[in-house]
Amino acid sequence: MFRGINIVLFALWYINTSFLVTNHVSFSLNKTDLSFKQSDSFNTITDPVSQHYTVSEQSLEKDKTYHIGLNQDYSAIKLTIKDTANILVYVTTDSDTLCFGEEVKDKNIDIPPSFAVFLKHTSFLNISSSKNTSIKLELFYAPQIENKQTLHLKKKKDGCAKPNTISQNNWRSGLPLPTPGRNKTNVTHCIIHHSAGNNNDTNYLNIVRNIYLFHTQSNGWDDIGYNFLIAPNGTIFSGRDPLGVDEEDNIQGAHYCGKNGSTMGICLLGNYNLTSPSLSILESLNALLSWKLYKENLSALDFFPHPNSTSDNLGVIAMHQDGCATQCPGDSAVLLLDSLKLAVETELNKCRGNVSIANPAIKFKQIIYPNPSTGRFYVMIEDGAQARKFIIKNQLGEKVSEALFPKNGLINVDLVSGYYFLELWNSDGIISTKKILIYKE
Ligand SMILES: [Zn+2]
Repeated sequence: MFRGINIVLFALWYINTSFLVTNHVSFSLNKTDLSFKQSDSFNTITDPVSQHYTVSEQSLEKDKTYHIGLNQDYSAIKLTIKDTANILVYVTTDSDTLCFGEEVKDKNIDIPPSFAVFLKHTSFLNISSSKNTSIKLELFYAPQIENKQTLHLKKKKDGCAKPNTISQNNWRSGLPLPTPGRNKTNVTHCIIHHSAGNNNDTNYLNIVRNIYLFHTQSNGWDDIGYNFLIAPNGTIFSGRDPLGVDEEDNIQGAHYCGKNGSTMGICLLGNYNLTSPSLSILESLNALLSWKLYKENLSALDFFPHPNSTSDNLGVIAMHQDGCATQCPGDSAVLLLDSLKLAVETELNKCRGNVSIANPAIKFKQIIYPNPSTGRFYVMIEDGAQARKFIIKNQLGEKVSEALFPKNGLINVDLVSGYYFLELWNSDGIISTKKILIYKE
């Protein structure tokens, strides 16, 4: 979330530093300055003396820039401002410019905006503050590793088979082991999250490793909170380690407003407040949900009460914000929920041998991924529709685009942001119309 205002704040930061050169304060954080909290099973593969987690407190004076030399590399940060609101704290490294200070009201939030994964490991920080304050500084270190697991991610597996995932042993290599103790749960609801991280960071393995450190070391949880995590390139990471108790999708996680029973948590890596999830992430999400719902004999369109909750009906596919006050998984992901449910239901029907969509009351004949989009989106058509061309009309009913319907269903149009109507035509005429939103930053 704070990433959205970084551009503006970077400018402020730059001006500030140029005026404050004479006020710079340099010091080094030594091991004696820091209190360590680390797992007994501490183990690194690159540097045996490196710590996975440190926490310290620091007073900051307004208008001073603190150069903090660290005694090792760190890969992620959590910065908590102790005093009252309306304070902004800036942190820069060689690769990152971060601004902290957004108030976090919900302490149960899975990944607060005070946590960030660095684009590159760093051994120093520059910190400054808009007012006198004190901070709690938590730093995380996940050594870089190679992905040893050869992954053949088939976009479409036969039927509703389990999609390939990167195993816990693979992505967790060199990090402390999770704490034993797992609860088995019968999943009735799948909850979607986002990591709210930097959309420009493509080192997904590193992001997952640092979320794991954040959840286990800072939050003190037994393991990473989610059952699965999906990267924008479609890669699926297995999440909470079942440790032999049951299959990994039936293990209770830590992600849903303190009501984790009967849920399976899926985290989409990235921030989907303003940006739509990628086609690859949605395809993997569809595959994962189709597999799980087929296995549990659930319908993607169903609602029923969550057993641990006093709330009314909750969708079999639901969002973190359905359970408590949070922006997670972001407005652009929330907008896709209905399309996602229909796509999963279509997939389930194929797997169950049903020819058409189960619920005839729903007239949709096309499913659009993603919607909203930048103008590049995928259209899935109900079997037998035989679309030959598409027409896009604006809100005044004026035709703005017309072309043959592409065999692969991928439409790519250059239109200004706004609502449009997508019509699909076969030789008999219009076979479906759907409202689409094109959004360009
Ligand atoms: Zn969430």
